[in-house]
Amino acid sequence: MAETAPFTIEQFYRFMSQGKLMAAQCMECGKIMLPPRPVCDKCFSDKLQWKELTPKGRLETYTVIHVAPPKFQPLTPYTVGIVRLEEGIRLPGMIKGVELENLHVGMELEIAFDSSLPSEWPAWPKYYFKPA
Ligand SMILES: [Zn+2]
Repeated sequence: MAETAPFTIEQFYRFMSQGKLMAAQCMECGKIMLPPRPVCDKCFSDKLQWKELTPKGRLETYTVIHVAPPKFQPLTPYTVGIVRLEEGIRLPGMIKGVELENLHVGMELEIAFDSSLPSEWPAWPKYYFKPA
């Protein structure tokens, strides 16, 4: 029934809890939308399908957080980056498992799912990036 599940952020999280990175794809023009939307933002078609994305990509940019909201303060310093997935989608997230001096733009990272992350992680809970 995954094909007909609603194209909502809640459903996106539900897939993520199953270890799947899913985006909405327009069946008319092929546009991939993450976060998912019920209507294509390119051609306005509502003929969409769920597409499982390759859970890896390359680091485009990153920043090190030293001062965080209270919930995240125990995790500091931590690194947040934007990874460009193989499908061309950009996804922000926390990066773990890499020494700061080894981080570099262009490095290959993959997505790992971690249900222990605070659930109010800005925009994208329950996952992080790690070296591929
Ligand atoms: Zn479209």
